[in-house]
This record gives sequence, structure tokens and C-alpha cells, in this order.
Amino acid sequence: MVAETSFVVRIPTALYEEMVAHVSAGYPNETCGALGCKGDLVVKHYPPANAAEHPDDYSEIGGKDRLRILYDIDEYDGEMIYYHSHPITEARPSARDISVARVNGYLYLIFSHQYYPEPPYARIFRITSDGTVTEGKVIVS
Ligand SMILES: [Zn+2]
Repeated sequence: MVAETSFVVRIPTALYEEMVAHVSAGYPNETCGALGCKGDLVVKHYPPANAAEHPDDYSEIGGKDRLRILYDIDEYDGEMIYYHSHPITEARPSARDISVARVNGYLYLIFSHQYYPEPPYARIFRITSDGTVTEGKVIVS
């Protein structure tokens, strides 16, 4: 179950538009990316390729891209947010998302194309190691 909103992530409009362009370019496959944050503010967008074996069914950042992103985020002492898209289903973590996120500890921002050709919408979640899912609020400004 999803608890009440408990945290906020602020995304500058220009970066959010880049994210929407990235996931839209990947449609109808899943697309993945990462964000670098300082506090609750997103300061950098990373749009890697989807390295999953079956990109129509799953998305993951490849090992080299992941290392490059994590090193870069370390440079400004930031935190990483992982994001990916759901081509068909709603913007909620799947069982597989939860099983991965509870280990890696990243915030998960999920885009959904369920209303395609309307633009995808995004929601963000914190998934703790016990599998508890809490929704946060995305503020684009
Ligand atoms: Zn997912």
C-alpha cells in the first residue's frame, strides 16, 4: 500500500522536459535515467540507454553508465534518483521494481505512458528495505 505524501522533489522545468523527451523517444519500450539531487532539488539529468535484455519489458542502466553517473554525482556530493518509464501500466512501482529498489535504496521516479498519445505523467516513490512504498510529491518549476 502507498502511504501519504511524505517528501518533495523539485525538478527545474528544463530538466523535466528533457526527461519527458528521453522517455518519449524510448516509447514503446521502457526507458531509464537518473537524476542528481542536492537536498530536494534536482540539479542534473542523466539519460543513459536502456541496457535491459528485453527493453519492452524492463529497463536498467548499464554498469558502465551507472558508474559514470555515480562518480559524477559524487563530484558535487549529490544523491541519485532512478527513473524509468512504464509504456502501458500506471506510474506505480511493479513488484519487480520494489524488489530491486528495496536493495538499492534509490528514490524511484516512474513515468507512465498509459494515456498515450497524451504526454507521460510522473510520480515518485521511496521504497524502504522492508518493502514499504511511500509516495512523494514532484514539483516542476
Ligand atoms: Zn517499473
